[in-house]
Amino acid sequence: MSDRDPQPVERQLPTDEASDLLALVREIAQREIAPKAAEEEDAGRFPREVFTLLSRSGLLGLPYDSEYGGGEQPYEVYLQVLEELAAARLTVGLGVSVHTLASYGLATYGTKQQQVEHLPAMLGGGLLGAYCLSEPASGSDAASLRTKAVRDGDEWVITGTKAWITHGGIADFYTVMARTGEDGPRGITAFLVPGDAPGLSGASPEKKMGMKGSPTAQVHLDGVRVGDDRRIGEEGQGFSIALSALDSGRLGIAACAIGVAQAALDEAVAYAGQRRQFGRPIADFQGLRFMIADMATQIEAGRALYLAAARLKDAGRPFSKQAAMAKLHCTDTAMKVTTDAVQILGGYGYTADFPAERYMREAKVLQIVEGTNQIQRMVIARHVAGPEGR
Ligand SMILES: Cc1cc2nc3c(=O)[nH]c(=O)nc-3n(C[C@H](O)[C@H](O)[C@H](O)COP(=O)(O)OP(=O)(O)OC[C@H]3O[C@@H](n4cnc5c(N)ncnc54)[C@H](O)[C@@H]3O)c2cc1C
Repeated sequence: MSDRDPQPVERQLPTDEASDLLALVREIAQREIAPKAAEEEDAGRFPREVFTLLSRSGLLGLPYDSEYGGGEQPYEVYLQVLEELAAARLTVGLGVSVHTLASYGLATYGTKQQQVEHLPAMLGGGLLGAYCLSEPASGSDAASLRTKAVRDGDEWVITGTKAWITHGGIADFYTVMARTGEDGPRGITAFLVPGDAPGLSGASPEKKMGMKGSPTAQVHLDGVRVGDDRRIGEEGQGFSIALSALDSGRLGIAACAIGVAQAALDEAVAYAGQRRQFGRPIADFQGLRFMIADMATQIEAGRALYLAAARLKDAGRPFSKQAAMAKLHCTDTAMKVTTDAVQILGGYGYTADFPAERYMREAKVLQIVEGTNQIQRMVIARHVAGPEGR
């Protein structure tokens, strides 16, 4: 809507290669993603061709080994790429984050043979992944999942229903957590299931408040057979693989949240500079100037927090607590900033003529996925105050 370009984000990038990468991503975001975002979100259309382009451009395996087709980028760079993609369209930024999450198990815990066989297609061969932990009756209490995998010779037979699966029904591969043993976290094993496996089917996508272009669906597994060579890690290791993936995944959600918040701030600033009331641009009124200052400050704080966590991860140090803090702070910031952006646009902010209302609807889901913000607080409190019931 505006003839004024937003202020470029001042990024600290570790190498010239990373600066070039971010420039390429911004170009793809502005040319291929942002122009169609509003229309396609409205129509509930998933931009599969964008993911093919991202795969061809080396952007679907950024944090993984180049030996298997990954980009071998540090997390601090990969996350800033996600931020740019999410600012253009959350369906794309979050989709890349989920694909990275789905690839994590095999890339981190797979055998050399599994990695050679599967990873190149997953990281740069055009495939799209899904991560299947949640079920209709187990969300926050994920360790109570009931999907079963029963051994039959050299194969496993998987039966159950996964819920809320991003890319459910359209993914080429599914990382599935299933019960192979006792109740609780120690009886869970991870498997890599091909999207075209007989017995696997996606239900109709959920009708969501936002991110309508991103299909979220139940995935039914009805006697799906996979070889033991598709088991990821050891029997009973699946839950710790799932949680370890989520530590990294939460950083992806944090970066996407800052992308959405930045897009909303840019929109609000552009509007406030043009809209006149009482004979002046509304950007002159201190009531709005203070809101804008608070929005910008929270965004910078969120970016600094997710980057601090990413740098710990890149240095091989524990980062679980900081990842939970980043997810909590960045997604709450996105909710607040997008709500304030709607307020700054006044009545127009409440219409679909401007993207502010879409940003606000999109921000909400980020407080829920990959561990609700109540669960993030539980994780943080355990790190800070020790386990409950000592
Ligand atoms: C758009 C979308 C995409 C998703 N994509 C995926 C995906 O790709 N893969 C996947 O596996 N899952 C996915 N999910 C599922 C998501 O991770 C879950 O929705 C989330 O973990 C919460 O689970 P639940 O919805 O069952 O809520 P519940 O666990 O039933 O929680 C309901 C409420 O109770 C609160 N609560 C629960 N336990 C506690 C507690 N101990 N203390 C305080 N409060 C508590 C929660 O915070 C929440 O407010 C997706 C969800 C959505 C909406």
